[in-house]
Amino acid sequence: MLSLIDSHIHLDAPELEGQGSTVLAAAHRSGIDRLVIPGVRASGWDGLFKLTANQGVFAAPGLHPAYAEQWSDAAAAALGLLAQNPRSVAIGEIGLDGVCGPDLGLQEKVLRAQLQIALDSGLPVLLHGRKATGRLLEVLRELAIGRQVGGIWHGFSGSLPVAQELARLGFKLGVGPILLRESARKLPQAVVELPAAALVLETDLPDMAAEPQALVAVAQKVAELRGWTLEEAARVTTENALSLFPGME
Ligand SMILES: [Zn+2]
Repeated sequence: MLSLIDSHIHLDAPELEGQGSTVLAAAHRSGIDRLVIPGVRASGWDGLFKLTANQGVFAAPGLHPAYAEQWSDAAAAALGLLAQNPRSVAIGEIGLDGVCGPDLGLQEKVLRAQLQIALDSGLPVLLHGRKATGRLLEVLRELAIGRQVGGIWHGFSGSLPVAQELARLGFKLGVGPILLRESARKLPQAVVELPAAALVLETDLPDMAAEPQALVAVAQKVAELRGWTLEEAARVTTENALSLFPGME
């Protein structure tokens, strides 16, 4: 039986209309026995932790950059407390989004505040970067986040040099359903060339996948590209995720 970890799945997404437990049951049946739900809005944090009552479900509370306007002293205090919850395995998803949300100045301020909470609590980070890669990399380098707490650049689709730089900085790359696209070129190359220790899997359901089993298809594709069996791809990516989230063991 496979043992896979979905490092990024929005089981609490409004689009699922409360069907999160059905999705979870399907995931468990496919060997996806551990899952991380990233935070998006501050108002959703309570819901994340309700879902962590289920076996194998963990939370990464945080504020998505598109909702950076929701940041406040109260949100900072709440997040600091949630970071101490034993079901918290990371702070996420945090970052910079050059397409959605408020101006990048505010986004960066909120990102830095959340990175500080991650550093204070010793938790890794789940990063969201869209059309602001250079600036996000600069902040990560400046604060030595990769070396201190590490994390995952989620939904990676960038170039091989950026992937290699992230791995050098101490981050892992969240490989998701983009890999399954016929048109995908850069991501398959990164999956082939990167150190095996940098690869973790995600569905980013419901945005990037409708079914949790998409994770198995992604693992299969990683296996093909690396010349591994599906079991090896599962073992390597699960070990990589566990090295980042020791609280899951
Ligand atoms: Zn996400």
